[in-house]
Amino acid sequence: MSSIELIINLAYVVAAALFIIGLKLLSHPSSARKGNLVSAIGMFVAVVVTLLDKQIIDFHWILLGFVIGAAYGAWKAKKVEMTQMPEMVSLFNGFGGLASLLLGWATITGMHLVSFATTSEFVFLTVFLTILIGGITFSGSVIAWGKLSGKMNAKAVIFAGLRELSIAHLLGFVAIGYLFVTQPDNLVWLYASIALALSFGIWATISIGGADMPVVIALLNSYSGIAACAAGLAVNNTILIVTGLLVGASGLILTNIMCKAMNRSLMNVLLSGFAKPVEMGEVIEGEVKILSAQDAFYVLEAAQSVLVVPGYGMAVAQAQHAVRELQSLLEENNCTVEYAIHPVAGRMPGHMNVLLAEADVPYDLLYEMDDVNPRMENYDVVIVIGANDVVNPAAKEMKGSPIYGMPVIEVYRAKSVFVLKRSAAAGFAGVDNPLFFKDNTRMVLGDAKDTINSIIREFGDD
Ligand code: NDP
Repeated sequence: MSSIELIINLAYVVAAALFIIGLKLLSHPSSARKGNLVSAIGMFVAVVVTLLDKQIIDFHWILLGFVIGAAYGAWKAKKVEMTQMPEMVSLFNGFGGLASLLLGWATITGMHLVSFATTSEFVFLTVFLTILIGGITFSGSVIAWGKLSGKMNAKAVIFAGLRELSIAHLLGFVAIGYLFVTQPDNLVWLYASIALALSFGIWATISIGGADMPVVIALLNSYSGIAACAAGLAVNNTILIVTGLLVGASGLILTNIMCKAMNRSLMNVLLSGFAKPVEMGEVIEGEVKILSAQDAFYVLEAAQSVLVVPGYGMAVAQAQHAVRELQSLLEENNCTVEYAIHPVAGRMPGHMNVLLAEADVPYDLLYEMDDVNPRMENYDVVIVIGANDVVNPAAKEMKGSPIYGMPVIEVYRAKSVFVLKRSAAAGFAGVDNPLFFKDNTRMVLGDAKDTINSIIREFGDD
């Protein structure tokens, strides 16, 4: 190994170590920013070393791509709302997949006839997998983006023959994969692979309902890593293999965590569109009891322990700072305040943690669902702020409900529950919520931030 090769490999080891340290730091909100920075430095090292190592294309093109990409990325990062982050992550995954697909494509079209004869079949297999997984990730992510952003109907699209179409795709992968590997110089198989991968990504994602999109996005994230890993094997780039594996593994771990949080198996999520529609066992009956902000204040003023359960509506209302202020007022009034965070509350993993951290809510007040459920009876008041699906008792009580079996924060067992939202409408999963009709529940209707500010004003007037 020449000294240049040694330096390059050492730089790759440094980059890989920075990625791993970055991932570790990302696992806690207090160190997450540092983790992002450390990973970005790792990526910078990896890119610079790769460019110096292999002068793949003209540096003018690389600089042009860098300027356009960085400018667009910076503009988009400034502009994106917190509530739009899942769609953004979905696009990131898609572009990762597209990059791998293009790399596989360029590897084949850039080869000379002699190289086709001297390159091993293993390399062509890795190129095929790069194109296949990259293509599925790209088209699947675009569909997920469409469903999450509301540009497409979020419902699962199911039609006669969809199952057969999926099976035909799977058989096609085997047949075209064989032809691609054995006749790599025949570009028909290259374009057939690209078309098949893009087509499968569409059908596989379109048949999954919007409520399962968080899991799909985590899985597509993992696919983008696996595609990058295959690309690394195809072009013999160590850091691409390591990065791809890290992304692939972390995406799979996240997928597993989210499936557990929804009490579903991955197969159940991926094939949910094929399941027979479930009959709702019972019709929810009862009367919603409305409470004014002023009356809510009287109860809170007397409370000794309060649990706050935030959900997507807190993000929409941008109520986190008002929530923090209310927490301080309650604490000054000798009331303990804790927060319960459901793993899929909001629209992305960690959504609530990020918002509450932004408002300086101490991390040690944030509890997981399994911590608070056993002591739910002890809370005088649970304030549900813009959450719906994650506190829906139908998941426990109604066998026919589409969310039956999903673990939820069992707020209905507390002494009293205040639900702060604008109406009794269903949440993301489109399932009615019996919590609103329980005897111990009061709904304080309106925008969550306005409602909390009204309660805060009552504390001031007191
Ligand atoms: P939900 O989507 O179930 O409910 C949010 C509620 O917020 C709505 O019912 C809405 O009711 C209310 N709301 C909206 N705007 C406001 C406002 N300005 N003020 C007050 N309330 C408001 O949210 P949850 O957090 O309970 O559940 C998350 C759901 O999203 C789950 O189904 C999960 O699977 C899914 N999901 C999760 C992702 C993740 O990774 N965390 C990603 C994608 C989806 P109203 O209109 O009556 O005000």
